[in-house]
Amino acid sequence: MKTLSREKFIYQMNSKNQSVMQVENGETFIVETSDCFNRQISSEDDLMSNLDTECFNPATGPIFIEGAEVGDVLKVQVLDIDVNEYGVIAVMPGFGATGSKHRKEVTKIIPIADNKAVFNDKISLDIDPMIGVIGTAPITESIETVVPDSHGGNMDCKRITRGSEVFLPINVEGGLLSLGDLHAVMGDGEVCGCGVEITGTVTLKVEVLKNRELPLPLIKTSDSIMTVASKETLDSASEQAVLNMYKLLVDTIDLSNEEASMLLSIAGDLKVCQIVNPLKTARYELPKAVLKNYKFEI
Ligand code: CA
Ligand code: CA
Repeated sequence: MKTLSREKFIYQMNSKNQSVMQVENGETFIVETSDCFNRQISSEDDLMSNLDTECFNPATGPIFIEGAEVGDVLKVQVLDIDVNEYGVIAVMPGFGATGSKHRKEVTKIIPIADNKAVFNDKISLDIDPMIGVIGTAPITESIETVVPDSHGGNMDCKRITRGSEVFLPINVEGGLLSLGDLHAVMGDGEVCGCGVEITGTVTLKVEVLKNRELPLPLIKTSDSIMTVASKETLDSASEQAVLNMYKLLVDTIDLSNEEASMLLSIAGDLKVCQIVNPLKTARYELPKAVLKNYKFEI
């Protein structure tokens, strides 16, 4: 199986980037990823202000997918995520929802043992590795890897995990997929600005979907369909995520505009992906079971 080294990374998702690996439509391959600090933290003495922020958020890639043409949809199946034996988390005064409460910078090394993230001697959390940054080249010429938008990017959506499928736009021939910023575990919101940031390897399978109109980015898991949107405020991101699911419903099944709206209000959940990136990200989750009597396949 082809493996792409974490040494091949970008800081800008850009339609003019040169691809560093080419895969076939339907191919399974492995991508190594760095952590969001580009491995600058190796001890708890490495504080945020000592790090080179220019090196933050590397995304491994870009990967050229054969047969991917402008207007197609890229389906990315996340088959597996393996993470390193430790992750890191760091805070600084002024950043994150509780930034005004931080009196100093603190970096914590989080050992990973027996599928748990060891926070301290009394608290261990089950890990649920997720991909923070995953995207294709945007329509606009260049978007930094720290920014989420309709091309994907730094969505920090905790549902992009082992077994999920991510649907992304193809805005340039080959799509130019890249990814990074794994978290061993993270809560919705990423409220301090970090998850358990960690290096790792991701096994992916890509498929090019022709003639599909889907509100993107879209995520499918074993039990839910999710629309994701990123905007300057959480209010606008929330509204857009709901509108995207609304569009999917009215385009796909036989419901009036008003019924679709009612269904969205009673059958699914609007959730926060993250509130700490340059654009904020929300998602709307609809359980697949709601639509089990419709022919509804993505
Ligand atoms: Ca992130
Ligand atoms: Ca991160």
